[in-house]
Amino acid sequence: MISLPWRQGAPLILVVDDERTIREMLRQEMEREGYRTLTATNGAEALELCQKNLPDMVLLDAVMPTLDGFRCCAEIRRWPGCEDLPVLMITSLDDEESVTEAFSVGATDYIIKPSKQIHWGVLRQRVRRLLQAYAAMRELHQRSAQERKLTQITAQVRRSLDLATILRTTVGEVQELLQVEQVAICEFPPLGEPRFTVESPSLGWPSILHAPLRVRVPQDHSGERHTLDWLVQVRDGDEVTGDSWYGELIQRLGMQAFLAVPVVLGERLWGLLTAHQYSTPRAWSPHEVNMLQQLTMQLASAIQQAQLYQQLEAANGELQRLAAFDGLTQVPNRRRFDEYLVQEWQRLAQEQGALSLILADIDFFKSYNDTYGHVAGDECLRRVAQTIHQVVSYTKGLVARYGGEEFGVILPETPLAPAMTVAEQIRLRVAQLRIPHQHSPVHGYVTLSLGVSSLLPNSEAAPAALVAAADQALYQAKQQGRNCVVPY
Ligand code: GH3
Ligand code: MG
Ligand code: MG
Repeated sequence: MISLPWRQGAPLILVVDDERTIREMLRQEMEREGYRTLTATNGAEALELCQKNLPDMVLLDAVMPTLDGFRCCAEIRRWPGCEDLPVLMITSLDDEESVTEAFSVGATDYIIKPSKQIHWGVLRQRVRRLLQAYAAMRELHQRSAQERKLTQITAQVRRSLDLATILRTTVGEVQELLQVEQVAICEFPPLGEPRFTVESPSLGWPSILHAPLRVRVPQDHSGERHTLDWLVQVRDGDEVTGDSWYGELIQRLGMQAFLAVPVVLGERLWGLLTAHQYSTPRAWSPHEVNMLQQLTMQLASAIQQAQLYQQLEAANGELQRLAAFDGLTQVPNRRRFDEYLVQEWQRLAQEQGALSLILADIDFFKSYNDTYGHVAGDECLRRVAQTIHQVVSYTKGLVARYGGEEFGVILPETPLAPAMTVAEQIRLRVAQLRIPHQHSPVHGYVTLSLGVSSLLPNSEAAPAALVAAADQALYQAKQQGRNCVVPY
């Protein structure tokens, strides 16, 4: 019996003949051969049936009323997907002309029924041979379409550097490639239980996400061994017991067919790409399994690439953070200060908002170092920086270490008066730290002097004007006896 891989059950033959006795004989003969049949009495009826229930072959009488076999065949050939459908013409006409016409309208073959006598042996053999050829051709077409799709999936998977995108693309595309009901990825994390983390878009089957896999992965096996051990194909009719990890899963989820292909990174079993069929039996062809193996190899390198990229991104992020922060005080550094100042200057020049700057300098810090030592000096700088940072965190502003024992606070969209309030707040909070400074001529504790400037940025002036003004104000604060806030 010929089986057609795309069809459940026996091949379906459409028998078309206007003569009842011949039609019946043909139908019975085909059914004796094990095929399923449909019958039609003329070309028009045949076309209608064809459209409703695509057969695997048409046995077509040439001469019929309403629509004859030649015109019917020509019409079938025009339909997409019917280019290769076997059409076997049965004709009492054995003249040269009608044979030529049968082929010119696209008949696959013909047999003759001289005075209504059909040579049954010839018919049976022709039908069998045509069905076989059709099956082979369909498989070839399907294979080359799958190969094209595989190339396309591979390219798509390799194009992305984002792991989530890679995995989501893979399951969706493989589901389409195999025409299977569900495709998923189970990850085997280095620590923790294997778990399904990605699945193809739902087609109404229960979600497999987070379903655990009751399995232990041997740590000492090689990549090659994993590749062999974890390839699992369960087809329709295969006996599975709940003893194996996949048997347990198949029974628990009620699958009729299951395929697992391992994804191996170097020597490590990274996870599994799995395909599941619930509603119907399903076989996995060697070609399909082979394609998935190729794909999982590509997937493994895409995952590796994405992981490297992630590490690189993290390292870059850390580098950028390091480049923008002051190592001692953990507040932004001078570089970041300059960058932010220019950025806010330009923005507020456009939006017409005020920009304020506070420069704060520790009073008599040289003498602090001389008294308590450089290490204590560093600790003092850290505490002052963090205190300023706390005050500024309630505003839209940015605090940076401007230099040595001097800090800059940039306050966007802030006019002079509120900036003065922030500065005063900073002065108070630092004084309240009560860091002893016994040789400070102003106070027994560490204090700050602060200069405040505020401008409406415009494209003619430069941010340096704001800094110069704050610097000037700070100078005045020092002149006026320190531990005070002076506006420009
Ligand atoms: P004034 O009140 O006029 O600001 O006096 P001052 O002593 O604070 O000013 P001066 O500019 O003379 O001295 C600043 C001191 O800050 C000198 C330097 O040793 C100290 N300093 C700068 N950076 C650091 C640092 O990172 N750690 C420590 N411990 N001290 C620093
Ligand atoms: Mg100082
Ligand atoms: Mg100074």
